[in-house]
Amino acid sequence: MSASPKIRIGTGTVSTHRLTMTSTAAATLSLPSHSLIFIKSNPFPSLRRSFCLNSPSTPAPSSHSPLRVKASSAEPSPSPGKGIENVVIIGSGPAGYTAAIYAARANLKPVVFEGYQVGGVPGGQLMTTTEVENFPGFPDGITGPDLMDRMRRQAERWGAELFQEDVESVDVKSSPFTVKSSERKVKCHSIIFATGATARRLRLPREDEFWSRGISACAICDGASPLFKRQVLAVVGGGDTATEEALYLTKYARHVHLLVRKDQLRASKAMQDRVINNPNVTVHFNTETLDIVSNTKGQMSGILTRKTDTGEESVLEAKGLFYGIGHSPNSQLLEGQVELDGAGYVLVQDGSGKTSVEGVFAAGDVQDHEWRQAITAAGSGCIAALSVERYLVSNNLLIEFHQRQTEEVKKELTDRDVHEGFDITITKHKGQYALRKLYHESPRLICVLYTSPTCGPCRTLKPILSKVIDEFDQNVHFVEIDIEEDPEIAEAAGIMGTPCVQFFKNKEMIRTVSGVKMKKEYREFIEENK
Ligand SMILES: Cc1cc2nc3c(=O)[nH]c(=O)nc-3n(C[C@H](O)[C@H](O)[C@H](O)COP(=O)(O)OP(=O)(O)OC[C@H]3O[C@@H](n4cnc5c(N)ncnc54)[C@H](O)[C@@H]3O)c2cc1C
Repeated sequence: MSASPKIRIGTGTVSTHRLTMTSTAAATLSLPSHSLIFIKSNPFPSLRRSFCLNSPSTPAPSSHSPLRVKASSAEPSPSPGKGIENVVIIGSGPAGYTAAIYAARANLKPVVFEGYQVGGVPGGQLMTTTEVENFPGFPDGITGPDLMDRMRRQAERWGAELFQEDVESVDVKSSPFTVKSSERKVKCHSIIFATGATARRLRLPREDEFWSRGISACAICDGASPLFKRQVLAVVGGGDTATEEALYLTKYARHVHLLVRKDQLRASKAMQDRVINNPNVTVHFNTETLDIVSNTKGQMSGILTRKTDTGEESVLEAKGLFYGIGHSPNSQLLEGQVELDGAGYVLVQDGSGKTSVEGVFAAGDVQDHEWRQAITAAGSGCIAALSVERYLVSNNLLIEFHQRQTEEVKKELTDRDVHEGFDITITKHKGQYALRKLYHESPRLICVLYTSPTCGPCRTLKPILSKVIDEFDQNVHFVEIDIEEDPEIAEAAGIMGTPCVQFFKNKEMIRTVSGVKMKKEYREFIEENK
């Protein structure tokens, strides 16, 4: 990072709240207007400290690259603080959370749309992996969901505002920009686009019929489900994702076939060695996956394949097919507004995260078709946030927000705090004993969430569902079943993957909802059936 002079201004310390910068204040303090901070209110004037606003040594020049355009101004001169955010970050993978940490530390109070369903789950792609062994700072490795939990908490701690919502549209043609999610509309001076990438599908003729009933795009989420345990399974793909999935599935499956269209693997050398040397994995080169084959009960029983060198077709016996065929950039929201390359990746200026529209920045896999790593995504998130800060300062748009001086210690409930005994009047429960008791004895609607320990999307869904349950407290019961702890009950309930929600009433299962759905879907169903 370039050495930037720091402008120190004495301020009072308050809990997180907005500060407003006014031109009057700038005049009174006679400092360059782009670096002024004026505190409108200070509930604790006796506590005083100083804090710094990094200001670039030379104001960042507005780019004159032929690629870059300036959004036209919808309002002649939007006054900072009038409901216009400094920066909206879209995405909550390593790029989005890192950008959030840096922007929040720079007192920008970023608004973060973490996503929900459209482009992956909050936390991004690492929510679907087990051990991450190459992220610096974790010599013993860390699970993907744990790493993302930590990043999230760090962003939150510094005052990022997080919303678990999908962004449905962005308008960067006029300034200030508009970002619309399923539940709110936000105006902002800058955007960091960190929407990552989504697992590709093969579009097999019977793909929709067997999606979540044999086909899965997440071995980590679904591998432990009873449907796949001790079965012969297949993974399609030849890169790191496919090889990692194949190796992971050997924990549960009887045998794993890896179907590779080319005559070699694209995965890293280390991963290639691991699959080739694993006796529980058979690698089939020059093998194209054509369709799913079912038995007389309509269950998946095999995969129709074709040899690319001979054209010979055959059926491979398998009860499950896992996709490991890579990802597509989630850049649809920017189509027609920001320059993308032929494959849909956002085009950025090297080393700045700047896109073709001033004030719009991109970070992570959505702008990186080459490296696609957690650390490179995090690095580019950092660059984008620092670029945003420079952009706001040089355009006199920055509104500074105070940080909390002392962190509020959140007391989190541990499993031990949870009521040990069974009490039918309590709404939330865990484990098969509670489920059996409620199933037989409770007249209420019972909502059962099936999870597995390594399933990232389960961690996303649990707090969301829990909030919805709170809205119906005395009319519903909630039970969490860990399918690894209670495999028999998961098997009896026909659970094929996690997360999965089932609703029971009067000893009947009335609905199954697989995956993570919009909050309103659960809410509406409970409302109608409570
Ligand atoms: C199985 C697997 C294992 C991996 N293992 C490793 C590893 O060990 N080490 C490593 O360095 N890398 C690993 N990677 C790669 C790494 O996960 C990615 O490079 C990294 O996650 C990219 O980060 P990102 O922030 O750009 O995007 P992502 O992680 O893809 O996150 C994108 C985010 O954007 C959100 N989003 C998308 N659309 C919207 C929208 N419309 N509104 C709101 N939010 C939206 C999503 O919900 C998500 O939160 C692995 C990837 C996979 C798939």
